Amino acid sequence: MSMPERGARVVVPLGKRSVTGIVVDPTATLNLEETPADKIKHIIDVLDEEAFLPAPVVDLALWVAEYYACGAGDALAAAVPSTQAHKTIRIASVTAQGHDLTLSLRGRQKEAIEALRGAPHGLPVPQMNEAGISTDVLQRLADKGLVAFRRERTERDPFTSGVASVRTIPSSGRVLTDEQSRALEALGAAAATEQFSVFLLQGVTGSGKTEVYLRLAERVLGRGRSVLVLVPEIALTPAVASAFREAFGDRVAVQHSGLSDGERSDQWYRIRRADVSVVVGTRSAVFAPLGNLGLIIVDEEHDTSFKQEETPRYNGRDVAVMRGRNEHALVVLGSATPSLESSQNAAVGRYSRLVMERRVQDRPLAAVSVVDMRQEYAAHGPEVILSGPLKNAITKRLDAGQQSLILLNRRGLATAVFCRQCGGTIECPNCSVSLIVHAEGRDRHRARCHYCNYGVLVPKACPACKGPYLERRGFGTEKVAQEIAELWPRARVARLDRDTVRRRGAAADILRSMAVGSIDVLVGTQMIAKGHDFPRVTLVGVVSADVGLGLADFRAAERTFQLLTQVAGRAGRGVEPGEAIVQTLYPHHYSIGHACRQDYGAFFADELKYRQAMRYPPLTSLVNLVVKGTEARAAMTDAATLAGHLRNNADAGHFAVLGPAPAPVARLRGEYRAQIFLKGSHRASMREAVLGALAAEPEMRRRVAIDIDPVSIL
Ligand code: ADP
Ligand code: ZN
Repeated sequence: MSMPERGARVVVPLGKRSVTGIVVDPTATLNLEETPADKIKHIIDVLDEEAFLPAPVVDLALWVAEYYACGAGDALAAAVPSTQAHKTIRIASVTAQGHDLTLSLRGRQKEAIEALRGAPHGLPVPQMNEAGISTDVLQRLADKGLVAFRRERTERDPFTSGVASVRTIPSSGRVLTDEQSRALEALGAAAATEQFSVFLLQGVTGSGKTEVYLRLAERVLGRGRSVLVLVPEIALTPAVASAFREAFGDRVAVQHSGLSDGERSDQWYRIRRADVSVVVGTRSAVFAPLGNLGLIIVDEEHDTSFKQEETPRYNGRDVAVMRGRNEHALVVLGSATPSLESSQNAAVGRYSRLVMERRVQDRPLAAVSVVDMRQEYAAHGPEVILSGPLKNAITKRLDAGQQSLILLNRRGLATAVFCRQCGGTIECPNCSVSLIVHAEGRDRHRARCHYCNYGVLVPKACPACKGPYLERRGFGTEKVAQEIAELWPRARVARLDRDTVRRRGAAADILRSMAVGSIDVLVGTQMIAKGHDFPRVTLVGVVSADVGLGLADFRAAERTFQLLTQVAGRAGRGVEPGEAIVQTLYPHHYSIGHACRQDYGAFFADELKYRQAMRYPPLTSLVNLVVKGTEARAAMTDAATLAGHLRNNADAGHFAVLGPAPAPVARLRGEYRAQIFLKGSHRASMREAVLGALAAEPEMRRRVAIDIDPVSIL
């Protein structure tokens, strides 16, 4: 066996199992005299002699492991294609000798031979491992000549993936707007230096950011360097991916969650072989094995889907910046509503800000008006869903054959089932939230948990007190769509939310119907606010701007501002000007006011003041620790122990420890959750303190989630 390179895959023993690992340091040496012989494990098999993961990607993954305080294995696993275990599998089969053997084997060896005799084509080793037969047992049988191994590659032809044409020149002979030209020149000059730098491209909705990306990509490709484009969710924002596909043909690989594991992994190999020079993908594509990287674009950089909410809890946008630094690439973060973090980085000069304030062809931004729902309720009662002005506006669009988007960032028919006798609501048995009512077929209604998906038929009586008077409260997108269908029976109404897009391809179908004009009114959650470009949408209605404001999250105002600005930006993208109508109980809240004026600068200034006063990011760094337990008290006690260790280090590390306190969702999927926050200016010392505290309580390790730079703190 020769020495595998850094980034190569090897099979190694781990406890009783054998697992695939990545070589991170082939030059490491052991002091053989000081290491007990039984601690030294041998590599079972070398799968690649050469690097499977390119060295820069190994570096990036190790940086992720360190920065986000997760295991190197977790970070490396995020960087390899998900099916790599199935790609090159070892198959064990019985030899002729093994078949004929009558001599008595015992225990596991006997089990293994019997299993293999029943499998004429052999069995994958990992599958046997899972059934409790270790690789060791198989190896011993192989040593006796009873079992043989072979390696099977299951790769399909990657070129059958159906890429139609090869076009290598960006689509349009369009004349760029002045702002587009200026942005392109600045970015092109930065790309030409082949040095690391970060630009924040802050362009209002409809200012034509995609066109700038395409032309910049063309220049970078012209220098022989490759391009990585990160987008929030391709199913919902197919426009950027297809623009790249159209412009650069089969030089583009698209990576997203809608692909099957096999397709995704085939793409990965195409990228690895340098068959493509442009990758468009969601968060995990930040680890794409592209060589000679010249440009990384993060479109809609403020989008929360760049943050992975499970281990490794990395933010794809921030990892992209680190990757650009490591590989001397230009990084472009694009958004109409930049995150506070990126905007602050631009304000202090770490990033360069480029602004595009006007829409292409001088189309005006939508005129936004606010409806004070307190007055609507006073005049028409508390049941009002659509205010008078919004109803009139919808009627006008239907008459004119134009389209409307109606946003409510809350799913379901009713948001709570309330008992008039005991005052309780029906809660999820696993989570500390109330169940949401959904229509299921015509008259059947089911109450469902939006966190764990638990569901029951809506009961006739209160489960707690048996009282017969159950009342439904609150409403979500289902109710809004019903109401609209009742008010305008001839309107073609569709709904876009997580419930309607469960089936693969469903989102694309709805968006396509919208694009071809076979939907008049599209009701939906934040999904309808993503970067869609429907020229016939002239009205955007926001049923309640207040949904996110009540959340116990310091980013509530930022999310509200972004959502309202983005959704208003969907109106008036064609020839006809657009209008947005925003219903709210808080017409004077700054996030709503600034969004209505589409004044990012003013919002940023106000929000920064609030973050400063409260010592929240981006003016301080935050770490969120969530301690889980099967009982509330146990979770809190463990969290208090950890907080104690942390406080002992806080002075030296210059950070503050807050909590423990029950998390806003105090019970989730049957587990109780207690929360500790660390706030300070020096992330490394906070991270060290957390790892130190956990080292002192090793058995807690598995019950604690460490979230560095958290995006959601619920
Ligand atoms: P953004 O992403 O900034 O919201 P888009 O990139 O979606 O904006 O562009 C908005 C619309 O304007 C798209 O339909 C796009 O094709 C069109 N467009 C972009 N640049 C130009 C231009 N220079 N001339 C004419 N139309 C343009
Ligand atoms: Zn639940």
